[in-house]
Amino acid sequence: MLRVTRQVIAALHRDERIATWEGLQEALREQMTQYSDLHPGVERYVAHAVEQYLDTHDELAAQYEEVRFFAFDPVVGSQGREVAVWAPLYSSVDGVREVRRLRVNKARSSAEEHDRWATVAAFVAAGVKMRVPPVKIRIVEAGLFDGSTEVVFEGTPDEVRTRYETYGRPVIKNLLEATDYRPGQSCQNCKLAGCCPSLEDLSGCLGQRRPGTHTRSVSAADLELYLKCPARWYLETVCRLPAAGMSSEASDRGRIIHRWLAQAHARGTRCTEQDVALLGQVGVFTGTLTAEEYAKTREFLAAHVRSCPLVDGVEVVAVEPSTYGYDGTADVVIASQPDLVYREAGGRIFIRETKTTTQMPADESDAFDRFFPVPWLMNIASTAKDAFGETEILPVVELEVITPGGARVFTWDLERDQDMVRMARAEVRQRAGSWIRDATWSSSPGPQCTWCPVRRWCPDAADAHGDADGQPQVYDESCAGLQAGLSD
Ligand code: SF4
Ligand code: SF4
Ligand SMILES: [Zn+2]
Repeated sequence: MLRVTRQVIAALHRDERIATWEGLQEALREQMTQYSDLHPGVERYVAHAVEQYLDTHDELAAQYEEVRFFAFDPVVGSQGREVAVWAPLYSSVDGVREVRRLRVNKARSSAEEHDRWATVAAFVAAGVKMRVPPVKIRIVEAGLFDGSTEVVFEGTPDEVRTRYETYGRPVIKNLLEATDYRPGQSCQNCKLAGCCPSLEDLSGCLGQRRPGTHTRSVSAADLELYLKCPARWYLETVCRLPAAGMSSEASDRGRIIHRWLAQAHARGTRCTEQDVALLGQVGVFTGTLTAEEYAKTREFLAAHVRSCPLVDGVEVVAVEPSTYGYDGTADVVIASQPDLVYREAGGRIFIRETKTTTQMPADESDAFDRFFPVPWLMNIASTAKDAFGETEILPVVELEVITPGGARVFTWDLERDQDMVRMARAEVRQRAGSWIRDATWSSSPGPQCTWCPVRRWCPDAADAHGDADGQPQVYDESCAGLQAGLSD
């Protein structure tokens, strides 16, 4: 997506027609015809981003000075020892050089992490060979969504070099010397996934006979979202297009409850009635919840206290562990994040997922059907019994469902419930089957479009209006997924 955006920007910088609005539209339309294989939602975003960027370009010129586009991705150094900055470089006739960091969403103001980027970018900009020597270097953030800009650095070449030696070179040195493995989002596109020692071996977990089109990564939240609408999954999760905040009271409440549970269980002891006492009473545990958040969720937290698993003899193995594995048959990195993993006194591992809803499932079978993390976790733990902690026998998967009226724990013993394990495998195989072969991500317009965070980019958004009739009657908390981070 950004590659196309950059190519179109570079082409339009050389096109004189962009001086007028009509000319710009014509030139943009012409450019976009070259990229007919783009997803329609991405195509919309790219056209929007290019227009915003060209406006930004004019505004920056009016605010500072006229600069001309020099090149994308300038590099300094010689082969094998090069430092590059992945951004466009501009220069003025009197030696001002400007690098613009393109953000998919909005420009961010200076912060330590961005400063490192700016430090290295400024070093590259100052070192690039150009006809006019540099007198000033400026690093600007440019938001492609809203045309926002932030100058994050401005200085002379001497200042740039000093800053690079202090804050840039040592970081680069550490990067080159790093030998540890840090599983995370970068595993998604990692060519080493198949032989990475930090990933659990989950071969066969997705039940596929052959790999998909390329290495992918997947979590329960991905497959849940994909089932609702493949286009939404693609635009929101893969492209990370700017999304409208569509949070509902139920999902906000779920997030608050999960935050409290994680903080309470990190103490390693059982939650008590005293923990959930009225605000202001002795011993009440609010964690990082505000008074308002605590008051809003207190009855749910009180319901949990009665089903808290951390009784005497139980050991917390991990709270919300991010676990990554690799299914070599499907060529997919598999991510999961249960709410709690604990070991009971006998040594058995329990994997617990907690969900809030307005209507309690009738029984285990109803819970299994409604909450996809259940078959998902059963499948992972039965593929690799040690995936969540070393254990002699297969773990137990639990689903704790909390409603305003009370909590209930549903249990699947993977050692005994072989029929359920087979059902879990079938459920995951079926969901993953269509996802792994999909490369077009078509849209599924329907009532869900009303709450779709990326509907602004979707040409197929159904014209549904969020009225009571169109809304589901039961509010099951959907998968939160792993922390996806902000779009940048
Ligand atoms: S698969 Fe391994 S090497 Fe690749 S990004 Fe993940 S942790 Fe790092
Ligand atoms: S607006 Fe509707 S069809 Fe479009 S991506 Fe969102 S849910 Fe899918
Ligand atoms: Zn508890």
